[in-house]
Amino acid sequence: MQIYPRKKTRQIKVGNVLIGGNAPVSVQSMTNTDTSDVEATINQIKILEKAGCEIVRVAVKDRELVVPFAEIKDSVSIPVIADIHFDHSIAIAVLEKGADAVRINPGNIGGKEKLKEVINVCREKKSAMRIGVNSGSIEKEILQKYGAPTAEAMVESALKSVEVCEEESFYNFKVSLKGSNVIETIKAYSKFSERCDYPVHIGITEAGTSVSGAIKSGAGLGILLYNGIGDTLRISLTSDPVNEVKAGYTLLRALGLRKIGVDVISCPTCSRREIDVEKVATEIENELVGCLVPLTVAVMGCVVNGPGEAKEADIGIAGGKGSGILFKRGVKIKKVRETDFVKELLAGVKELIEEKEGGKSV
Ligand code: SF4
Repeated sequence: MQIYPRKKTRQIKVGNVLIGGNAPVSVQSMTNTDTSDVEATINQIKILEKAGCEIVRVAVKDRELVVPFAEIKDSVSIPVIADIHFDHSIAIAVLEKGADAVRINPGNIGGKEKLKEVINVCREKKSAMRIGVNSGSIEKEILQKYGAPTAEAMVESALKSVEVCEEESFYNFKVSLKGSNVIETIKAYSKFSERCDYPVHIGITEAGTSVSGAIKSGAGLGILLYNGIGDTLRISLTSDPVNEVKAGYTLLRALGLRKIGVDVISCPTCSRREIDVEKVATEIENELVGCLVPLTVAVMGCVVNGPGEAKEADIGIAGGKGSGILFKRGVKIKKVRETDFVKELLAGVKELIEEKEGGKSV
């Protein structure tokens, strides 16, 4: 696949995760539990971590949530970013409590002096910052100048905050320029990347539910990544956040940018279909969600084209009447009863993992 070399950006650190430079493009998600429900939020983060989430963001919408946030942060092992709007003092408070980073929105944080205060605490605590420009909340004067939340407006908003960081000699930050319009978002990130070399968090905001959100994000982020832009990403979905993580890795694998996790390929089915492909593929995907070993598992509806179409897969099933053929790297291994498909595939995956060294890969 021809893909442009990744743009060389400055490297920053969020907790123990490197972003930018030659670090792999990291996958993020955000909790959708009530942050005041500490137990539920910790549980969700642990599930996300098991699914491969590398950095998680938690909304801290008011001061009462600073203490619950600290409890959450102290109970999980992946870096936690506090998402702050409107009140810069909350950003300072969570940084004092050990937040790995704060995401602030330059459009609503209250101006340059307040941003400087947050920067200084970030520096003191060795924490990072995300300057998170959002097309829906650009500063009034910039919006008036451009008349709409265009790509240029988003870039100007971001660069204004970047200048404040530079004035303060603070460089442990990344930038996002998220819009819900895919084309404007691509333009914004492209223009920003032409202007400077700060690492970018890429995403499409308010992308939608699983199918529409994944397609919009795949289109927008796919084009950016193909052009070498993007150091960390979140696929925003109105769905279980685990699906954001799965979608993130699927996109990175599709572009050859990460070799991590199980890629379940399945045929679209047609009238030759002999087995419930969707059910088997979904079960396998759910069973292997926490497996970070790079493997391809195929579920094919029939033996006519199945093994041939999926010969690149490490292991797979090609359906027959009430049974199927288990194949490994294109070679037939044995006949399997339909009721045993999932069990046999999982056993095969276990064997393959044992054959591979290391287990976890980037
Ligand atoms: Fe149809 Fe068989 Fe191809 Fe699936 S593998 S799409 S069932 S021909």
